[in-house]
Amino acid sequence: MEGFGTLSIHTSQEPNPINGAVCPAIELSTTYVSNKSNFEYSRCSNPTRKILEELIARTECGKYGMCFSSGMAAISSTINILKPGDNILSIGDIYGGTHKYFSKVAEKLNNIKVIYVDLINIKNTLPDTLRNNPKITCIWLESVTNPLLRVCDIEEICSIAHKFNVMVFVDNTFATPYNVKPLNLGVDIVVHSVTKYLNGHSDVIMGCAITNSETIRDKLKFIQSCVGAVPSPFDCYMVIRGMKTLHLRMKKHAENALEVAEYLEKHPKIERVYYPGLKSHPNYETTLKQMKTGGGMVTILLKGGLKESTVFLGNLKLFAVAVSLGCVESLAELPATMTHGSIPREERLQLGITDNLCRLSVGVENIEDIINDLEQALRK
Ligand SMILES: *Cc1c(COP(=O)(O)O)cnc(C)c1O
Repeated sequence: MEGFGTLSIHTSQEPNPINGAVCPAIELSTTYVSNKSNFEYSRCSNPTRKILEELIARTECGKYGMCFSSGMAAISSTINILKPGDNILSIGDIYGGTHKYFSKVAEKLNNIKVIYVDLINIKNTLPDTLRNNPKITCIWLESVTNPLLRVCDIEEICSIAHKFNVMVFVDNTFATPYNVKPLNLGVDIVVHSVTKYLNGHSDVIMGCAITNSETIRDKLKFIQSCVGAVPSPFDCYMVIRGMKTLHLRMKKHAENALEVAEYLEKHPKIERVYYPGLKSHPNYETTLKQMKTGGGMVTILLKGGLKESTVFLGNLKLFAVAVSLGCVESLAELPATMTHGSIPREERLQLGITDNLCRLSVGVENIEDIINDLEQALRK
C-alpha cells in the first residue's frame, strides 16, 4: 500500500477524464438525472463529498467513511445507532461538547446513560464492569483525551470489550490517523472533528465517521441521509485540499510541540507539563507503543491560579487566545472558563481541570517565535 502522504494526496482523485483537471470539481448540483450515475440527490450522496469520504476512510485504513456537517453531528449520529436504554462506558475527560451532548441530549431524550470511568488503568476492573452491567453496549474513548492528553491502550480495551459484545467508538480528533489508526487496533467506529487537524486551516466546520463494518455503515448512512446533517460541496473541497498536507503539518506540529513541552518543563513558572511524548507523561509507554508522535497539543499547569493564567494568556502575542485546535496557527485557552466551562466546577476539579490549567495547540510557525512568545508572556 502507498504511504500516508501519497494516499492523502491522491486517493480517489484521478485527473478529470474530460478536461484533464488535476483537482476535483466542486459539484454544486443538488439533483441528478436518473440512469446517468449512482447519484440522485445531494443530501444522500454528492460527488465532491464522495471523494472526501473515500479519502478519509483510506487514511484511517477503513472501508467506509461518512462526512457530517460538524464533529458534533458525526458524534450524535454514531450515538444514534444505539438503542434507547443502552448504556455507554466513557472515559472522564472527554471533549466538553461531547460531555454536554451525553448529559443533555443522549440521557434526556434517548434514555442512554453514560457511565464515566478511568479507562487508563483498566486491566483488572473492565471485565467485571462489563459483566455486571449488560446494558453497556458501547465504550467511548478519545485516542488522546482533552485537556489532560491521557492515552489509553486502545487494543487492550477492544480485546476486552469484544469478548462482551461491546462496541468501541474512538474520537481520534487529537491524534489524527497520522499518529494512530484505531480501526487497526480493533475499534468499531472512528469519529473526528474534521474542523481540527484534518482540515487544519480554521476555515471549515465538519465531522466524519469511519468504520469497517457493513452493518454499522448501513445504519450511519441511513442516519446521515435521514437526519441530513451533511457538509456542503465547497467545504468538502476545502478539506480535500487541506488533507493534502496533513502528513507535513502533523510532523511539524509534533516537532514544535515536543520542543515547547521540553522548554516549559524546565521553566520555573510552570508547575507541570502534560505531553504524551515526554518521558514524564504517565502514559508515555502506551504512547510509544500506539502513536507515531506525541501530537501537537501541550497542556500546562502554571504556578498560581486563575489570576496567573489570565495574565499569561493576556500577554501572549503570537498565540491567539481562542477555543478550537489543530490549525496551522498556535492557539491557547483556559479550559476552566472556555472549552470545559459548562462542566460543573466540582466535577471539573475531579477531572483535574483546575484554574491554572492552560491548553496549547502548538501551530506550525517557526519554533523560535513560538518559544519567544511563551518566554515573554511568562516573564510578565
Ligand atoms: C472540536 C471537537 C469536537 C466537536 O467538533 P465540531 O466540529 O466543533 O462540532 C469533538 N471532539 C473533539 C475531540 C473536538 O476537539
